[in-house]
Amino acid sequence: MTQNIFKVLGLNLLEKDGVYPSLFMGDEKSLGEGRKLTAHSPIDMKKSSVFREVSTIQVNDVLKKLNIANEKWRMIPAPKRGELIRVVSNLAREHKNELAHIITLESGKIFEEAKGEVQEFIDVCDFAVGLSRQLYGLTIASERYKHKMLEQWHPLGTIGIISAFNFPMAVWAWNAMIALVCGNTIVWKPSIQTPLCAVACHLLLQKALEQFKDFPKNISSVIVGSRAIGEVIVKSKRTQLISATGSVTMGRKIAAIVSARLGKLLLELGGNNAMIVTPSANLDLSLRAILFSAVGTAGQRCTSLRRLFVHKDVKDKVINSLVKAYKSVRIGDPFEKDILMGPIISEDSHKKMLIALKQITKQGGKIIYGGERVVKNVPEGGFYVEPTLVTIKHGALILQHETFAPILYIIEYENLEDAISMNNSVPQGLSSAIFTQDVNEAELFTSAVGSDCGIVNVNIGTSGAEIGGAFGGEKDTGGGRESGSDSWKSYMRRATNTINFSGEIPLSQGIEFEIK
Ligand code: NAD
Repeated sequence: MTQNIFKVLGLNLLEKDGVYPSLFMGDEKSLGEGRKLTAHSPIDMKKSSVFREVSTIQVNDVLKKLNIANEKWRMIPAPKRGELIRVVSNLAREHKNELAHIITLESGKIFEEAKGEVQEFIDVCDFAVGLSRQLYGLTIASERYKHKMLEQWHPLGTIGIISAFNFPMAVWAWNAMIALVCGNTIVWKPSIQTPLCAVACHLLLQKALEQFKDFPKNISSVIVGSRAIGEVIVKSKRTQLISATGSVTMGRKIAAIVSARLGKLLLELGGNNAMIVTPSANLDLSLRAILFSAVGTAGQRCTSLRRLFVHKDVKDKVINSLVKAYKSVRIGDPFEKDILMGPIISEDSHKKMLIALKQITKQGGKIIYGGERVVKNVPEGGFYVEPTLVTIKHGALILQHETFAPILYIIEYENLEDAISMNNSVPQGLSSAIFTQDVNEAELFTSAVGSDCGIVNVNIGTSGAEIGGAFGGEKDTGGGRESGSDSWKSYMRRATNTINFSGEIPLSQGIEFEIK
């Protein structure tokens, strides 16, 4: 099926010695010349693709071509640019299963969720098509006679996209579809764990471009490479915005580089998401939301539920139901029907989970369910783990960290103000939720003194955001917003224009400045 999608997209990708091209620029492709980079499918840890590292010269050449293509692309009217995205959207619909297949193969998420990710790709395309006719600026009242003030939004130039393994297509689509309708060209460095997803998306876009003979070919590129290659992109003044999705560690590194050259940055970093279950909550609904948020994508979503604050009056009931539900989670090959949890991404990830489990017991926590590696009825080689439930007290240091694995900490609370304060007491600020039937509790949680996160939900879990809203978080999560609402403004530059049609030259603030 993997080779199928590439055939459908008109390319026999495998070149010399089973090595894939590392660099895709418009309809050209080139092999890297450096060391080998091998991706393994988390399903069984078998080799899924091999690339070679590209050189700095190759990267700079791509960036130069993107800058040149941008001169033409930015002059194509935005609604026409939107037409390209409409065709991309149709192709993604047509190839939904093939695209989802590659996502499952490379990221290990279950096929159902992989299809959901492609749907997110489609949704953001549709959003971008509408947006292409709505890149509105303001008109502003001028204080001066016969003057007009207005705001215009212009394309930025070339956007560098760096993405994480866990949403290998959707995150690109959030960035790329909006960046393109805004008149920018794009360079994408995907996670080295999910390179084929990136290649497939780029080829899909190229296929759509075939229908637009007057459009420049070099508006999109993919560079498969290591962090070092990511840094070459980040350092280059040829990129007018770096939009990076990944860990806080990566964000800090990139922020230092981009800030040093006074460049623009959009960061979507790690989360440490919490949910509060109050005594009035509908416990059945809460349970379903907890299960999807904590166990979905094997706990490897940036919005995965990590901390659960349960009121003391309902704690035992919630824990009993959760243990029962966790026991019935089917773990195994993510391509198989009825499997709810696939593998975690790598051995390294598993090691980090084991370290976290040790710290939990050292810090007074208790593992009440799970934590073991699963080896029966799962494909050999992959790292399959039991989803894990932990009871722990607020104040344990482990609660400050995002462990990218299915570990859920349960913490008891007595009054809502304390629970909100605990929700806010971590460095990250991505997603949060409350389950309550009490309007006062819901309002408090969503108010200025409520959750300090970028996503604040009522009677909905922490994961599974819609593309229409601005997606992102505060504090160490980086403060960036992607996808819906007015996130498009990050991909454009604002010009304030003042137009004088008075025949005189009055200065603002009434200043007199005449030669007498
Ligand atoms: P990661 O930080 O290891 O890698 C993310 C990307 O950054 C990869 O492409 C990697 O090659 C690149 N990278 C790393 N260091 C770099 C550097 N110095 N210069 C340039 N590029 C560099 O993250 P991961 O393990 O792939 O993904 C998991 C993390 O991503 C989690 O922390 C998760 O919460 C976060 N994430 C956040 C969001 C969000 O929207 N907030 C979405 C998805 C994932």
